[in-house]
Amino acid sequence: MTPKIAQFLADVQPATPCLVLDVDRVEQNYRRLQSALPLARIYYAVKANPAPQILERLVGLGSCFDAASWEEVSAVLDAGAAAEAVSYGNTVKKESAIRAAYARGVRMFAFDSEGELEKLARSAPGSRVYCRILVGNDGAEWPLSRKFGCEVEMARELMVKAGEMGLDPFGLSFHVGSQQTNTAAYEAAIAKVGMLFTDLKEAGVNVRMVNLGGGYPVRYRAEVPEIDAFGDAIMGAMAKHFGNALPDIVVEPGRFIAADAAVVSAEVVLVSRKAKDDPVRWVYLDIGRFGGLAETEGEAIKYAFRTPHDGAEEGPVTIAGPTCDSTDTLYEKSNYRLPEKLQPGDRIEILSAGAYVTTYASQGFNGFAPLAEHYI
Ligand SMILES: *Cc1c(COP(=O)(O)O)cnc(C)c1O
Repeated sequence: MTPKIAQFLADVQPATPCLVLDVDRVEQNYRRLQSALPLARIYYAVKANPAPQILERLVGLGSCFDAASWEEVSAVLDAGAAAEAVSYGNTVKKESAIRAAYARGVRMFAFDSEGELEKLARSAPGSRVYCRILVGNDGAEWPLSRKFGCEVEMARELMVKAGEMGLDPFGLSFHVGSQQTNTAAYEAAIAKVGMLFTDLKEAGVNVRMVNLGGGYPVRYRAEVPEIDAFGDAIMGAMAKHFGNALPDIVVEPGRFIAADAAVVSAEVVLVSRKAKDDPVRWVYLDIGRFGGLAETEGEAIKYAFRTPHDGAEEGPVTIAGPTCDSTDTLYEKSNYRLPEKLQPGDRIEILSAGAYVTTYASQGFNGFAPLAEHYI
């Protein structure tokens, strides 16, 4: 938690649940990534947190943007970004959305299938397109499995076809899964892309860009490697597979930019046990999976908590949200422990909650309003 957030919580005591995000921290994270990967161009993955305050700060820093929908493209342009700074990176787009983005000047689009290429050729003629290939997601705490990307052989054919269809076969991309804690995942993916890149060049395709996607991890409950370790591994692999003919390098960080810039301030609603002698207490908060903590699904992302009693004796807990749905149980198997003194009415902070929280909040399940947001 940054000093500015701590001060805000103490002074304002905002109603809970709410997110408090320090926009200066977003800037620091952007600069840290820039210095770890000075040769890469940063496209912020807007879906992590599309708040205009974040987008505007990043526009001011010269960031580019990875948008996943027409609505995100529009939000980024409204925040002052130039159309040339926008990549429409979802490989699954409605044709009407492609047309809308193209009409506003966007000229960079992702694809991973022939069907998408046909839409792009019709509705975004002449644009730069890049093909996303399937890579391993091992080591990612929030993996993306096989939903996006295609096999290398198909990517090769589609890149050739893109040129024939009047598009500019600009580059290749991958995404190693989010909260990727293993630098080797990038090295393996770069090796795979490097081979295809060379093949395409030899086939006469004017491919110029490699997009390394997102995934750069942040600290939740457990330590993760420093961003410089990712920068070193990535640049080592790029040098190994591309020599000194480096292509344009693009990265698409989302979580790394936004997550540790914010905390969620919540309230303990109830502390109970299922039997008198049960060692495990149930701690119910006023935010849960439907309030925005969607990434606790499968206990994948393990948030760290701060309480007013930190340092006092702790015991085992199951942590749950306030709604009447049993899937609104956050952590039952991950050995969470909280202070024995914790009681209803205590405020509790959920750390590093700036990414993938606010927009996941439901409209009003059980009548609970979406999370309030404060950008400071
Ligand atoms: C979600 C996503 C990102 C951002 O991932 P993070 O793990 O938040 O860095 C980047 N690129 C693509 C294609 C994505 O889908």
